[in-house]
Amino acid sequence: MKNIYILILITFISSSTLAKASISLSRFETGYNDSPEALIFPSGKLFKTHRSTHSSFIISHPKGNLLIDTGLGLKIDEQFEDFIWWLKPFFGFTKEVTIQESLSKHHRSIDSIFLTHLHWDHASGITDFPQAIVFTTKTEREYALETNDSHGPGYLRNQYDSKSIKWKDLELRSIKYGPFEQSLDIFSDGSLIAVPLPGHTPGSLGYILTLRSGRQLFFVGDVIWSVKQLNNLEHKFAIAKCLVDDDPEQLLETIKKIALFKNQRPELQIIPAHDYKHIKSLIPLFPKFIDI
Ligand SMILES: [Zn+2]
Repeated sequence: MKNIYILILITFISSSTLAKASISLSRFETGYNDSPEALIFPSGKLFKTHRSTHSSFIISHPKGNLLIDTGLGLKIDEQFEDFIWWLKPFFGFTKEVTIQESLSKHHRSIDSIFLTHLHWDHASGITDFPQAIVFTTKTEREYALETNDSHGPGYLRNQYDSKSIKWKDLELRSIKYGPFEQSLDIFSDGSLIAVPLPGHTPGSLGYILTLRSGRQLFFVGDVIWSVKQLNNLEHKFAIAKCLVDDDPEQLLETIKKIALFKNQRPELQIIPAHDYKHIKSLIPLFPKFIDI
């Protein structure tokens, strides 16, 4: 009997180590926007430029290649036309690489897309990957599909109303993970954990990736636009907050949880989706990957 337990333990350890051993991470810069730091968060400096990058992260996992968010996709220009005229200057962007071209040059494909939320600069490329399964929460998907002006201007229905999208809802379990009451171990190997981050949008998710060395990166989407916001638990700049945050009070609670988690795990690397300078210092550009 004892031998059976040892065998089970060895199988468990080796399968989890094997999975983590072959996980690697890279990223794409699909576009960017430069603005004074003071327009990003209240304590930002007026004469310091903050670059907001439109990131997409690629994770190579034994179960396939996945993206966390898509950044700006192939059809961004025509999608963008659906914004009301007065919003366009707020959301202006300069395009950079297209993920499709970069992937095909290196003979890679995408099996699944995990969204932090469905705002326009995260969901734009969904239909560029017709074969991929697209994961989000039911709350986020339904909210985005019902969206109208009262839901805030960050959504563009034309990015995700195609009937051919292969949606799959992520159902979080009542399993505590750090300060979060719910979580989901996506591949059942501890490598990628989803946690709820409501406030910016109702169904926003964060993803915690663990690499072979134990290094952890926490993709927090648009809960914050700069990692500096965690220092003083700051919201975004007032106008930005009014424009893009669905429930600022709930968002502040989420910001506090992320800051608490960072205090509990000082090595944890917080990755806001748009914080160019911070992301650049931690994650290489595709085709270069990190695996430790
Ligand atoms: Zn965004």
